[in-house]
Amino acid sequence: MQALTNRSKVVSNKQMTFAEKMYLPAILGGISITIRHLFKKKATVSYPEVKREFSQVYRGQHVLKRDDKGAERCTACGLCAVSCPAEAITMTSAERKKGEENLYREEKYASTYEINMLRCIFCGLCEEACPKEAIFLTDRMVPTDFTRNEFVYGKDKLVEKTDDRVDVTKRQTKAVLDFKKIKQLSHNR
Ligand code: SF4
Ligand code: SF4
Repeated sequence: MQALTNRSKVVSNKQMTFAEKMYLPAILGGISITIRHLFKKKATVSYPEVKREFSQVYRGQHVLKRDDKGAERCTACGLCAVSCPAEAITMTSAERKKGEENLYREEKYASTYEINMLRCIFCGLCEEACPKEAIFLTDRMVPTDFTRNEFVYGKDKLVEKTDDRVDVTKRQTKAVLDFKKIKQLSHNR
Protein backbone atom coordinates (compact mmCIF):
# COMPACT_ATOMS: atom_id res chain seq x y z
CA MET A 1 0.00 0.00 0.00
CA GLN A 2 1.27 3.50 -0.84
CA ALA A 3 2.31 5.59 2.19
CA LEU A 4 0.37 8.84 2.74
CA THR A 5 3.50 10.82 3.73
CA ASN A 6 7.25 10.32 3.35
CA ARG A 7 7.61 10.56 7.14
CA SER A 8 5.76 7.37 7.92
CA LYS A 9 7.71 4.67 9.77
CA VAL A 10 7.33 0.96 9.56
CA VAL A 11 6.40 -0.43 12.96
CA SER A 12 8.89 -3.01 14.11
CA ASN A 13 7.39 -6.12 15.63
CA LYS A 14 10.73 -7.65 16.53
CA GLN A 15 10.90 -9.47 19.82
CA MET A 16 12.44 -7.51 22.72
CA THR A 17 15.65 -8.85 24.16
CA PHE A 18 15.86 -9.84 27.81
CA ALA A 19 17.76 -6.60 28.62
CA GLU A 20 15.09 -4.52 26.87
CA LYS A 21 12.37 -6.33 28.77
CA MET A 22 14.20 -5.35 31.99
CA TYR A 23 14.38 -1.67 30.75
CA LEU A 24 18.20 -1.78 31.08
CA PRO A 25 19.05 0.28 27.92
CA ALA A 26 16.46 2.93 28.89
CA ILE A 27 17.72 3.10 32.50
CA LEU A 28 21.37 3.38 31.38
CA GLY A 29 20.40 6.03 28.84
CA GLY A 30 18.65 8.04 31.59
CA ILE A 31 21.62 7.71 33.96
CA SER A 32 24.05 8.87 31.26
CA ILE A 33 21.92 12.00 30.65
CA THR A 34 21.93 12.72 34.42
CA ILE A 35 25.72 12.29 34.65
CA ARG A 36 26.25 14.57 31.63
CA HIS A 37 24.18 17.29 33.34
CA LEU A 38 26.33 17.05 36.51
CA PHE A 39 29.19 18.66 34.57
CA LYS A 40 27.12 21.31 32.81
CA LYS A 41 26.43 24.84 34.10
CA LYS A 42 23.36 24.75 36.38
CA ALA A 43 20.20 26.39 35.04
CA THR A 44 18.83 26.91 38.55
CA VAL A 45 19.97 28.94 41.59
CA SER A 46 19.42 28.25 45.30
CA TYR A 47 16.82 30.97 45.87
CA PRO A 48 16.43 32.80 48.28
CA GLU A 49 20.08 32.43 49.39
CA VAL A 50 21.21 33.19 45.84
CA LYS A 51 19.39 35.82 43.84
CA ARG A 52 19.59 36.36 40.12
CA GLU A 53 20.52 39.77 38.80
CA PHE A 54 17.40 41.44 37.51
CA SER A 55 17.03 43.52 34.40
CA GLN A 56 17.32 47.27 35.02
CA VAL A 57 13.74 47.66 33.86
CA TYR A 58 12.32 44.82 35.97
CA ARG A 59 8.87 45.81 37.17
CA GLY A 60 8.19 44.62 40.69
CA GLN A 61 6.36 45.80 43.78
CA HIS A 62 4.88 49.30 43.55
CA VAL A 63 5.75 52.24 45.75
CA LEU A 64 3.60 55.28 46.47
CA LYS A 65 6.08 58.13 46.60
CA ARG A 66 6.36 61.11 48.91
CA ASP A 67 7.64 64.50 47.79
CA ASP A 68 10.81 66.22 48.96
CA LYS A 69 9.11 67.35 52.16
CA GLY A 70 7.70 63.92 52.96
CA ALA A 71 4.08 64.55 51.93
CA GLU A 72 2.22 61.86 49.98
CA ARG A 73 2.15 62.75 46.29
CA CYS A 74 -1.01 60.79 45.38
CA THR A 75 -4.07 62.96 44.88
CA ALA A 76 -6.53 60.09 44.41
CA CYS A 77 -7.37 61.13 40.85
CA GLY A 78 -8.04 57.51 39.91
CA LEU A 79 -6.16 57.58 36.60
CA CYS A 80 -4.01 54.62 37.62
CA ALA A 81 -7.10 52.58 38.45
CA VAL A 82 -8.76 53.49 35.14
CA SER A 83 -5.66 52.58 33.15
CA CYS A 84 -5.11 49.27 34.95
CA PRO A 85 -6.04 46.43 32.59
CA ALA A 86 -6.30 43.97 35.48
CA GLU A 87 -8.58 46.17 37.59
CA ALA A 88 -6.17 45.63 40.45
CA ILE A 89 -6.27 49.13 41.96
CA THR A 90 -8.95 50.54 44.25
CA MET A 91 -8.95 53.67 46.35
CA THR A 92 -11.11 56.08 48.27
CA SER A 93 -10.43 59.78 48.32
CA ALA A 94 -10.66 62.27 51.17
CA GLU A 95 -10.24 66.00 51.56
CA ARG A 96 -7.14 67.31 53.25
CA LYS A 97 -7.89 69.13 56.50
CA LYS A 98 -6.19 72.24 57.79
CA GLY A 99 -2.90 71.33 59.38
CA GLU A 100 -2.41 68.22 57.22
CA GLU A 101 -0.39 70.04 54.53
CA ASN A 102 2.77 68.24 55.64
CA LEU A 103 1.05 64.85 55.22
CA TYR A 104 -0.61 65.23 51.82
CA ARG A 105 0.69 67.42 49.01
CA GLU A 106 -2.65 68.06 47.31
CA GLU A 107 -6.03 69.08 48.72
CA LYS A 108 -7.41 65.66 47.86
CA TYR A 109 -5.60 62.49 48.87
CA ALA A 110 -6.13 58.74 48.98
CA SER A 111 -7.43 57.76 52.39
CA THR A 112 -7.24 54.14 51.29
CA TYR A 113 -5.29 52.79 48.34
CA GLU A 114 -5.08 49.10 47.55
CA ILE A 115 -3.42 46.98 44.88
CA ASN A 116 -4.32 43.33 44.54
CA MET A 117 -0.96 41.78 43.70
CA LEU A 118 -2.62 38.57 42.55
CA ARG A 119 -4.46 40.47 39.84
CA CYS A 120 -1.58 42.76 38.89
CA ILE A 121 0.32 41.79 35.75
CA PHE A 122 3.11 44.33 36.42
CA CYS A 123 2.56 46.06 33.10
CA GLY A 124 3.51 49.50 34.44
CA LEU A 125 0.51 51.33 32.96
CA CYS A 126 -0.42 52.81 36.35
CA GLU A 127 3.03 54.39 36.49
CA GLU A 128 2.62 55.78 32.97
CA ALA A 129 -0.83 57.20 33.73
CA CYS A 130 0.00 58.98 37.00
CA PRO A 131 0.15 62.77 36.52
CA LYS A 132 1.72 63.32 39.95
CA GLU A 133 4.63 60.87 39.74
CA ALA A 134 3.13 59.22 42.76
CA ILE A 135 3.27 55.57 41.80
CA PHE A 136 6.26 53.65 40.52
CA LEU A 137 7.07 50.02 40.05
CA THR A 138 10.36 49.07 41.68
CA ASP A 139 12.94 46.32 41.46
CA ARG A 140 11.57 44.72 44.66
CA MET A 141 9.88 41.34 44.43
CA VAL A 142 6.43 40.76 45.88
CA PRO A 143 7.08 38.15 48.58
CA THR A 144 5.21 34.88 48.64
CA ASP A 145 2.48 34.17 51.18
CA PHE A 146 -0.08 31.57 52.13
CA THR A 147 -3.41 33.42 52.02
CA ARG A 148 -4.97 35.47 49.24
CA ASN A 149 -5.85 38.38 51.54
CA GLU A 150 -2.18 38.99 52.26
CA PHE A 151 -1.69 39.96 48.61
CA VAL A 152 -4.02 42.94 48.84
CA TYR A 153 -1.47 45.64 49.58
CA GLY A 154 -2.72 48.74 51.35
CA LYS A 155 -1.04 52.04 52.07
CA ASP A 156 0.92 50.48 54.94
CA LYS A 157 2.86 48.43 52.40
CA LEU A 158 2.76 50.78 49.43
CA VAL A 159 3.59 54.26 50.74
CA GLU A 160 7.33 54.70 51.19
CA LYS A 161 8.57 55.25 54.71
CA THR A 162 9.91 58.73 55.51
CA ASP A 163 13.09 57.21 56.95
CA ASP A 164 13.45 54.58 54.19
CA ARG A 165 12.91 56.26 50.84
CA VAL A 166 12.79 54.17 47.66
CA ASP A 167 15.09 55.52 44.96
CA VAL A 168 13.43 55.22 41.55
CA THR A 169 15.73 57.60 39.69
CA LYS A 170 17.93 54.77 38.47
CA ARG A 171 14.94 53.39 36.59
CA GLN A 172 14.23 56.65 34.76
CA THR A 173 15.83 57.65 31.49
CA LYS A 174 18.10 60.69 31.23
CA ALA A 175 15.43 62.44 29.17
CA VAL A 176 12.90 62.12 32.02
CA LEU A 177 15.41 63.28 34.63
CA ASP A 178 16.31 66.30 32.49
CA PHE A 179 12.60 67.06 32.02
CA LYS A 180 12.18 67.17 35.80
CA LYS A 181 14.85 69.84 36.12
CA ILE A 182 12.68 72.37 34.26
CA LYS A 183 11.87 74.97 36.92
CA GLN A 184 8.39 75.81 35.58
CA LEU A 185 7.33 72.22 36.27
CA SER A 186 8.55 72.21 39.86
CA HIS A 187 5.08 71.23 41.11
CA ASN A 188 5.90 67.73 39.93
CA ARG A 189 9.07 67.24 41.94
S1 SF4 B 1 1.25 47.33 36.98
FE1 SF4 B 1 -0.42 47.15 35.47
S2 SF4 B 1 -1.72 45.53 36.27
FE2 SF4 B 1 -0.40 46.17 37.97
S3 SF4 B 1 -1.57 47.69 39.09
FE3 SF4 B 1 -0.32 48.81 37.59
S4 SF4 B 1 -1.63 49.01 35.76
FE4 SF4 B 1 -2.55 47.44 37.07
S1 SF4 C 1 -1.21 57.17 42.10
FE1 SF4 C 1 -1.22 58.85 40.60
S2 SF4 C 1 -2.75 58.23 39.07
FE2 SF4 C 1 -3.10 56.97 40.89
S3 SF4 C 1 -4.66 58.08 42.05
FE3 SF4 C 1 -2.64 58.70 42.85
S4 SF4 C 1 -2.15 60.57 41.69
FE4 SF4 C 1 -3.79 59.53 40.57
